[in-house]
Amino acid sequence: MNPRPHLVGLVGTGVGPSLSPALHMTEARAQGLDYVYRTIDLAELQISPTRIGEVLTWARALGYDALNITHPCKQLVVEHLDEVDPAAAALGAVNTVVFGDDGRTRGHNTDVTGFAHGFTEGLPDAAVDTVVLVGAGGAGTAVADALLRLGCRRLHLVDLDVARAARLADDLAARHRHARVAASAFDALPDLLPETDGVVHATPTGMAAHPGMAFSAELLHPELWVADIVYRPLNTALLQAARAAGCRTLDGGHMAVHQATDAFALITGITPDAERMSKHFRSLVAE
Ligand code: NAD
Repeated sequence: MNPRPHLVGLVGTGVGPSLSPALHMTEARAQGLDYVYRTIDLAELQISPTRIGEVLTWARALGYDALNITHPCKQLVVEHLDEVDPAAAALGAVNTVVFGDDGRTRGHNTDVTGFAHGFTEGLPDAAVDTVVLVGAGGAGTAVADALLRLGCRRLHLVDLDVARAARLADDLAARHRHARVAASAFDALPDLLPETDGVVHATPTGMAAHPGMAFSAELLHPELWVADIVYRPLNTALLQAARAAGCRTLDGGHMAVHQATDAFALITGITPDAERMSKHFRSLVAE
């Protein structure tokens, strides 16, 4: 008997260039699954993101089995779901919705699990007692939550938008009572980094459209591990500087691949071949 076919969508704005359709469908083919993954660009369709609840209803009626949800709908979608897993509910953001056979919609956040899985894969044994996170936006929020779940006990959030970092710090501190979470100004980095196990970079700086580094390479030292979540390109200026300074490094491909492997597993119930998906992802990014 052929396995049940899967129809999956990626809902958001500007989703056209996403690598997710290729990643999911190539892995599904290798697993022998009948699996179609389509982008659903709300901007192109001239549908307001605030109508995400209706989009869920339409998608289910049109036969979709699951949706990945991205900017700007990750928070908006939460109130429209029947169930939200505890990590996603605590964060108030969902990036994967599965339509159950029982008619219920279930939300998950594989940005959080994806960063955690990628981190343990790429920097096994790295100490996470004290970590600095530069960038407290959408992705930074998921990364911060993942770091605290990995056991981080002192997390310093640094963002150009100091008020945003302070709000996130308060929210995280309330939910992760074992840890101290604080927002710090940029000019605190020279004091923070010598005392820190590692630094995660989660701003757009370093992407092709925003070249450069968010902070000075002079602050890097060999005892520090450095993780960048930017993945286009994979070899960012920050990672090049970190390697030159003798730091252990983690590129953004690990998070990107594992948010996809975790979503694939939730959607299909099948554990994908993460190594195969990683190789495929890296070939796509190198193109
Ligand atoms: P966002 O716009 O929600 O947040 C970016 C944050 O960075 C903002 O709070 C902004 O104030 C801050 N910022 C910008 N420039 C800064 C600087 N020079 N120094 C300090 N703070 C600065 O964006 P996002 O959705 O969080 O995405 C950030 C980046 O993360 C993206 O550009 C993307 O490359 C990457 N990303 C990677 C993955 C992955 O799977 N690897 C997933 C999502 C996003």
